Amino acid sequence: MSDSTLFTEDYQVAPYWLEHVTPVDGLSPELPAQADIAVIGSGYTGLNAALTAQRGGRQVVVLEAGMPGFGCSTRNGGQISAGVKPELATLTQSYGATNARAIIEESLASLAWIKTSIANEHISCDYKPCGLFNAAHSARQFDAMCRDAESLPHEGIDAIVIPKHEQRAELGSDFYHGGLVFPQHASLHAAKYHQGLLLRCLDAGVIIVPYCKALHMNRAHSEHHIDTTLGALNANDVLIATNGYTEQLTPWQQRRVIPISSSIIATEPVAESVINELIPNDRTITDSRRVVFYYRASPDRSRILFGGRVAAGNIEPNISATKLHDEMVRVFPQLQATKISHTWSGSVAYTFDKLPHAGKHDGIHYALGYCGSGVAMAGYLGMKMGYRLLGSDKGDTVFANIAFKTRPLYSGKPWFLPPMIAAYRWLDRREGG
Ligand SMILES: Cc1cc2nc3c(=O)[nH]c(=O)nc-3n(C[C@H](O)[C@H](O)[C@H](O)COP(=O)(O)OP(=O)(O)OC[C@H]3O[C@@H](n4cnc5c(N)ncnc54)[C@H](O)[C@@H]3O)c2cc1C
Repeated sequence: MSDSTLFTEDYQVAPYWLEHVTPVDGLSPELPAQADIAVIGSGYTGLNAALTAQRGGRQVVVLEAGMPGFGCSTRNGGQISAGVKPELATLTQSYGATNARAIIEESLASLAWIKTSIANEHISCDYKPCGLFNAAHSARQFDAMCRDAESLPHEGIDAIVIPKHEQRAELGSDFYHGGLVFPQHASLHAAKYHQGLLLRCLDAGVIIVPYCKALHMNRAHSEHHIDTTLGALNANDVLIATNGYTEQLTPWQQRRVIPISSSIIATEPVAESVINELIPNDRTITDSRRVVFYYRASPDRSRILFGGRVAAGNIEPNISATKLHDEMVRVFPQLQATKISHTWSGSVAYTFDKLPHAGKHDGIHYALGYCGSGVAMAGYLGMKMGYRLLGSDKGDTVFANIAFKTRPLYSGKPWFLPPMIAAYRWLDRREGG
């Protein structure tokens, strides 16, 4: 297929999700002079923190550099996973048995929490407890997965082994070598979930100020003074909820997160019979490659949403979309002639220990570093930070008890990423992925 026929006539460089939400009323065009709490960033972290703290009796103002949800929270794949990458054995070596167990327990708690929270808030966002299929890109990876499947139940994690000869029951592809199904995982519509949170915040009285970038912060006595593009705000407390968009405003946090761009394509509508062949059980899919790909059917099962990182550096959207299409066709040759209707990208935040972190540094609260798996965890830690801002022990979390480390000479610009990603991609390809 030549590039000229790869894109639909109405192709857009914008999240597919935004087709199904309309702008909300009630945002504040002006910045108030005073707040009990200033939340910087209006994604899942910021809004869940704001909602909890406002309902607890504090006046919260959310500052957002773009439109609400400008960051990852309207750009993700809508895959709800446990949000912690390292396994129990690795965590135990680094943090001891008690903290390691607490990390796993809280990652599972985030899965249960998002389900209950969406139901309690009556947010209509296509939440579906569909389960995840994690596909092995090599026979060796499949063997490792089988070993994991024996220990995971002791950690409270359900996993079902799918050998290669049964793979077609999960995925219309022969690309992989089997894999594991994680039935506790789920999916949602990223922007509908975000908009539901936004409306609940506005109902509760949170003041949300779009196009208001926080530029500088300092503290006099017990009050924080924030200069923004719309003037100044004084607040008793501040929460940083900027994740992959963390910049010079908070250098301590910036030195601890590694911003990485990830992109998605949406296909044009595909015949129902094809979707039923490709993703028969409507699961979300990821694979075991170091440079991971993740995909799913759209909530109405009309399209495939296929995401990943396709270049070592940042490239033009049309080029990354073309490369993602190539990757999609390697997995699903059935989609060779299927065009791309949307592409978009966003910036996720990795950390050096591959764990999210929350807490308080130098008088400033923060929660960030979800390592590309923040749909459940960002909201969960946002809620926890909301309680911490209220002084409640409901805000206790192990992610505030573990050291948040940086590396010498790292200032927030990940110069090491392009060679690292190129090497990972080479290793993945060598193993057949
Ligand atoms: C392409 C892509 C696919 C993904 N897929 C998945 C997935 O399937 N499952 C999953 O679990 N996770 C996924 N993620 C990650 C997930 O979306 C994020 O972890 C989560 O949304 C983070 O939420 P957040 O509120 O912390 O940050 P964000 O939603 O990124 O919000 C941060 C906000 O801070 C604002 N901001 C930054 N600086 C300032 C400032 N100085 N002043 C004012 N505002 C500021 C930004 O404008 C931004 O809106 C994906 C991410 C991307 C990009």
